[in-house]
Amino acid sequence: MWRDCCGERFGQQPRHAVAPERRNASVNAPERVIETSERAERIVVRGLVQGVGFRPTVWRSAQHHGLRGTVANDGDGVVIHVSGEACALEDFVTALRTDPPPLARIDEIVRGPCEITIYADDFRIVESRATHVTTGVLPDAATCSECLHEIFDPFSRRYRYPFTNCTHCGPRLSIIEAIPYDRARTTMAHFRMCPSCTSEYGDPQDRRFHAEPTACHACGPRVWIERADGKAVAVHAYTMMDDVDAACTLLQRGHIAAIKGLGGFQLACDATHGAAVARLRELKRRGGKPFALMARDAGVIRRYAEASDEELALLASAAAPIVLLRAAAERLPESVAPGVATLGFMLPNTPLHHLLLKRMTRPIVLTSGNLSDEPQCIANGDARQRLGGIAEFFLMHDRDIACRVDDSVVAVSAGEARILRRARGYAPAPLRLPAGFETAPPVLGMGGELKNTFCLLREGKAILSHHMGDLEDAYTFADYESSLRRYQALFEFSPAVIAIDAHPEYLSSKHGRDLAETQGRTLIQVQHHHAHIAACMAENGLPLDSAPILGVALDGLGYGADGTFWGGEFLRANYRDFTRLATFKPVAMPGGELAVYEPWRNTYAHLMAEMGWAHFTMNYAELDLHDFLVKQPRALLDDMIKKGVNSPPASSCGRLFDAVAAACGILRESVSYEGEAAIRLEALVDEKTLEEEDEILAYPFSIPRLNVNNLPYIEPFAMWQALLGDLILKTPVPVIAARFHKGLAIVIVRMVDKLSRYESVEEPVRTVALSGGVFQNAVLMEQVVKRLRALDFTVLTHRQAPTNDGGLALGQAAVAAARAAHSSL
Ligand SMILES: [Zn+2]
Ligand SMILES: [Zn+2]
Ligand SMILES: [Zn+2]
Repeated sequence: MWRDCCGERFGQQPRHAVAPERRNASVNAPERVIETSERAERIVVRGLVQGVGFRPTVWRSAQHHGLRGTVANDGDGVVIHVSGEACALEDFVTALRTDPPPLARIDEIVRGPCEITIYADDFRIVESRATHVTTGVLPDAATCSECLHEIFDPFSRRYRYPFTNCTHCGPRLSIIEAIPYDRARTTMAHFRMCPSCTSEYGDPQDRRFHAEPTACHACGPRVWIERADGKAVAVHAYTMMDDVDAACTLLQRGHIAAIKGLGGFQLACDATHGAAVARLRELKRRGGKPFALMARDAGVIRRYAEASDEELALLASAAAPIVLLRAAAERLPESVAPGVATLGFMLPNTPLHHLLLKRMTRPIVLTSGNLSDEPQCIANGDARQRLGGIAEFFLMHDRDIACRVDDSVVAVSAGEARILRRARGYAPAPLRLPAGFETAPPVLGMGGELKNTFCLLREGKAILSHHMGDLEDAYTFADYESSLRRYQALFEFSPAVIAIDAHPEYLSSKHGRDLAETQGRTLIQVQHHHAHIAACMAENGLPLDSAPILGVALDGLGYGADGTFWGGEFLRANYRDFTRLATFKPVAMPGGELAVYEPWRNTYAHLMAEMGWAHFTMNYAELDLHDFLVKQPRALLDDMIKKGVNSPPASSCGRLFDAVAAACGILRESVSYEGEAAIRLEALVDEKTLEEEDEILAYPFSIPRLNVNNLPYIEPFAMWQALLGDLILKTPVPVIAARFHKGLAIVIVRMVDKLSRYESVEEPVRTVALSGGVFQNAVLMEQVVKRLRALDFTVLTHRQAPTNDGGLALGQAAVAAARAAHSSL
């Protein structure tokens, strides 16, 4: 970085400065060295600095410090040419650093001598240059406090205006149709600004200076309410105010409403109204998945859930995600979140939501407006058609949604906030990649199959897309393809390399293969768990050429390098390669996919793999688990397992959780979403047993070696004996759940410790990365992290990228970039 001491002069002498005294000085004495401490600099600010009101902030600060020059956006970031008193200049740079606009993220400020002449005697915002702007698309941001104040101020011209926003808040990704980001290329294009809005938009002193979606009652989008059955709504029967307030009354009366939110339609009902919640669940065919909730303020949330200061700050942040909170004393109906210990709460994130909930002293269920696993509706006509059978009323508006964006989900575990679903408020903010990635060719990571995202990697940054959902659904896959095209256009991105999962049947892999073929790109396959670990390495800043670390990847299922299913893996990995050092015990999944949705199949397969039916009957015939299994088609299953028909072996940690949960009687027969039984098992864990009980009672696992490949593996036989024994003793399930979690954490850490010392051929490895969907389990995560740290391991975990398959694309891109960089050397 360029530095200068006070008093030295840089830049050319101005020849035609406007101020008379300067004009005299420069014209009359061009050769004379100015004796004051005048100085000129070129300052480049990089990071998230465009479209966040950065230029007006710079402008105001320059005015304040009496500086001359210009500020502009270009492909590099924000470029400032500035001259003035050296000390004022120092203060100006300090202010940029310490007091940027709320949505800005400064990655670096580079200062250098000014190569252009600064003539003017004022400071001006100049138009963006025609270079390619890389940071033009930002996440949507929740309503800021100033806008909030306006919408509740009866004397403001934006009183109760549901589309109020400024440069510090409002929609971005959800309304952008093309770049560069300006109003003409958003869905606000056909709303012509009124004179008042126009003057704010053009005034650098106003916080709406170049706020592209700015609008008001006079010129912007409108909201109205309509009935699903097409009959007219007598709004005055519900309110003395407006249609938004009428919707509030309808919710209070137990109706289900569809609301056009920021990134898609949402379905809402009073969360305390048991019948309404149950009806919504049934009509939406939601199964057992918890509903998200919204409350007007922290006070309402705190009646139903515990929230730490950190969690409250997350709720109130510009991203305004759904935050998973521990349910508190005052209970909501069971149908809000059946069988889980947490509630997913968010605060209003748009003026529309603030206005809707103003009079509502109870939380509402606010879930995406869709049927089952389909993507949510974004167009009015589509919503009327698809949601007409669920909602009785629609709160509609006439601003189109350009890009479907779900709500984000965050949870605090092991002391840190972790994004579990990255969407509204976070995507598409780029993640800065560690050293070495700047020179890698552009890579597109296609993601996996479930909870899918994709990733654009270029110039040392990774843009992880918003969450799109499970690609098994045809609508979701269509949405994935169109989002992929949008992102590539918005970021002017053209990959040299396409990275896919090794699973041949993933739709994302097939699509990536097609793209690579038709566009002539290099295709790189990345093993599922290697991608998980690489994603964790990348977000924790490990450089491209860093030494191998130990990776613990625990999840449902991923395609293994040997063609079998993996899902509980211990790898030694750098970005380019990995070695599988150890695994969970491979156990058959009788029925294949069916075993994911019928947990008892896993229990049966595990018991047969460990002890066989005779042993089980001899020792545990009195258990109701035995009664249950007797009634199942055992002969058929035995045959399938024996012949290896539709019973792939899987070393899956997720399936082990299912097996244990079903053994304890939790959702034995069927679950409505993957991992539901495991999530309920976690919810039951008795804290006291976890924290206080002697470790000797934690269920034991052993670490023998597999016959086929001599790999050490986690053998659950002893665990099953202890667990079944506890079931006979009628030990409460919460105690069993705690002993299982603790025992599993102990053996995972024991395995890591062993591998770090015995299995590593070179230096002992002291860094461990934890990834995979199972680490969404906060109890297991906290137990493992705590125990690894106690042994002085450096533990890497996910915060920005989801630990589940939503983070996979980042890892694929990182691996492919590392391989591509290496091969070109
Ligand atoms: Zn605002
Ligand atoms: Zn207006
Ligand atoms: Zn996975």
